[in-house]
Amino acid sequence: MTSQRTRNRLVQRLRESGIRNDDVLDVIASTPRHLFVDEALSHRAYEDTALPIGNGQTISQPYTVARMTEVLLAAGPLKRVLEIGTGSGYQTAVLSPLVDKLFSVERIEPLHVRAVQRLDSLGYSNVRLKLSDGTWGWPEHGPYDGILAAAAPEDVPDSLLEQLADGGRLVMPVGTEEQKLVLITRHGDHFSRKTLESVRFVPFLPGVQR
Ligand code: SAH
Repeated sequence: MTSQRTRNRLVQRLRESGIRNDDVLDVIASTPRHLFVDEALSHRAYEDTALPIGNGQTISQPYTVARMTEVLLAAGPLKRVLEIGTGSGYQTAVLSPLVDKLFSVERIEPLHVRAVQRLDSLGYSNVRLKLSDGTWGWPEHGPYDGILAAAAPEDVPDSLLEQLADGGRLVMPVGTEEQKLVLITRHGDHFSRKTLESVRFVPFLPGVQR
């Protein structure tokens, strides 16, 4: 079930669902998603579905990971990227080969610790992870030309907008009952906002949980 053929079938499905960026599809074809879930669920790792990763959280659906990565990269290559909500580290692993430097924060300690071990052992060397509340971004390493979040707040936190470089792009779900994927682009002090499709993410929660 973890064979290249199973992974290729997932990529074919994503293509049929409308993902067009070949670089993104190539990375998904070579990323071992079965190593980002519990062994008991690894036989389902190449289904296009979210799966539980413990602590009430989920590994994102491959379509959503592909779509958000595609939207983030649509204006060209990115150098510095910030991710909020490392979770299993799967989205981190997909972004890593497509950007120069990647910073990712997670608020739940056991998930953070597992993601560090996983990404280290798989050799993702341009990635830095931190246990913290993503409401505050990670100002020390900004500004970022891409910011991506995998949890939905009521609205985009101001600190994330402040850490966006001029020309930078931010992609994240927004809303409580009904969530929409939002793309924000910074032009100097002006932020343009585009609402994309409906999505379903875990809530963006404050604080650090140990
Ligand atoms: N892309 C990840 C998604 C994990 S689910 C994956 O595929 O595994 C979203 C994650 O966001 C959860 O792990 C949750 O704990 C985290 N999260 C939610 N609110 C957060 C916040 N304010 N700061 C940091 N992480 C947060």
